[in-house]
Order: sequence, then C-alpha cells, then structure tokens
Amino acid sequence: MGDIERVAVDVEGVLAASHARLCTVHNNRYDTTYTETDIGHWDWVVDEIGFEEFMAITDEAWREEDCGASIEAYGDVAMLANALDRLRERFTVDVVTARTGVDDAIQAWLAERDIEYNTFHSLPHTETKAALGYDAYIDDKPGLADRLAADQCQYLVKQPWNRAAWRHRWTIAVASVVEAVDRLLANTGEL
Ligand SMILES: [Mg+2]
Repeated sequence: MGDIERVAVDVEGVLAASHARLCTVHNNRYDTTYTETDIGHWDWVVDEIGFEEFMAITDEAWREEDCGASIEAYGDVAMLANALDRLRERFTVDVVTARTGVDDAIQAWLAERDIEYNTFHSLPHTETKAALGYDAYIDDKPGLADRLAADQCQYLVKQPWNRAAWRHRWTIAVASVVEAVDRLLANTGEL
C-alpha cells in the first residue's frame, strides 16, 4: 500500500442501505419477498429485478420528499459520522457515488445524519471510480480492486452481493465503514 492522502467513500451498500429499500418497494409492488440477504451476487439485481427498474426504484427512493428517509444508514449513525470525522482529521475524504441525478438528495441524506466529507462526486455507472485516482476506496463493489493500480487499495464492505470478492487478494474485507476507518488509520500508523 502506498502513502494514503485521498479516500473515496461509497454511498449505496456502504453508508446507505438502498438495497433494502429496493427490496421493500419491489415486494410491495410485485408481491415478492426479497430481502437484502437474497442478493447473493453482484448481477442479482439485473437478473431478478432488471437494471432499469433497479435504477428507477432507487432513484425514486432518494428523491422522496424527505430526502431518502426511507433509506436506512448501515449501523449507528453517530458512529458512522464519527468514523468519517476521524478519517478527515488525517485524509481528504470524498463521498463518491456511481449514481447520477440525485446528488442533492444524497447530500441532504448525509447532512441529515451529520455525515461530513470534503467533496461529493457522482459519476455515471458506466465509468469506473478507479480512474478518479483515490489512494483508498471504501466500497462494496466487487471487482473494483481489479481496476486499481498497485498503490491503490479497496476496503470492501462485506455484503451478501460481494461475497465472491471477500477473499480477493487486493481487497481488505471489512464488516463496516467503522472497521474500514479503524484499519485504515491503523495501517497508516494513525491509531
Ligand atoms: Mg456501492
């Protein structure tokens, strides 16, 4: 691992349980019984729900009048906010999402929870975050590490849908953002 200065923190599947909301909306709409744990691999959403519908339902959830209030945070909100605060004492910490068109809603969701960061970036899902050149990524996307250079690293927040990457040799699998932050600070001598 090289020197770390810039850290990218993902939103969906990392800070925000948008997949759980997706399941709820889909279940209500189509009388299905999906839960997050059914999402057993990365392509499940495309196979079971369809990409367009997945994008539409999740966009709608973010755009609800109360700024995505139906989307839960993963874990204790105060601990999440504290983790990013601790990270920002040492690094530049940006929130980076591969969802466009709902920037204001996602930022409002973060602000509502006192989750602070340096800069917010959204990029089209067709582009890779690897190209943004962060030193470390806290992200649930399996395969992101394959696109990283040797001096970049991924802290993979473990989810049912990224199980295949838990043992990937270029990722550090963690249970939560808080664990990722603790390990990042420990690995760089800050803890
Ligand atoms: Mg994600």
